[in-house]
Amino acid sequence: MFEPTLHQYDSQDWDRLGPSSHLSWDELACHDEHSTPYPRDTPEGRVEASCLSIEFEWVRHLCGDVPIEIGSAYRTLAWNREIGSTSSSQHVKGRALDIYPPKGHTVATLLRIVRARSQMSGSKLRGIGEYRWGVHFDTRPQTRLARWRGGRVRAEVA
Ligand SMILES: [Zn+2]
Repeated sequence: MFEPTLHQYDSQDWDRLGPSSHLSWDELACHDEHSTPYPRDTPEGRVEASCLSIEFEWVRHLCGDVPIEIGSAYRTLAWNREIGSTSSSQHVKGRALDIYPPKGHTVATLLRIVRARSQMSGSKLRGIGEYRWGVHFDTRPQTRLARWRGGRVRAEVA
């Protein structure tokens, strides 16, 4: 079975590359003017980053091991407010990714894959938003899956 390649916290790979083999700190950083880094050094941050990267690596794998472009990941509260998103956004907690359909996929096929991943045993994927540009998913701490269809035009605010 597929095993995502995760980087150990405090290892060189974790520091230099990111929480897993295909997710970097650059991709996870906020899009504000300072490119505020993902809060990876707090106890919560390391757990959330690992958790999110496992789900990302699985989705990437199920898409056929293809590169997936990320529209938005971590957001500071200030940036989140600036772009008009809700303060309860999972992006502020570092638990969400907005992803675009990779090569060979549409929003519909990507959505099916994200949903399939959420139903696999051990998955912590608990939020799925469908948008015209792609899919938002998050690892909110709850047992039920939250699903919605959004009208946000750009990934930055979903
Ligand atoms: Zn989102």
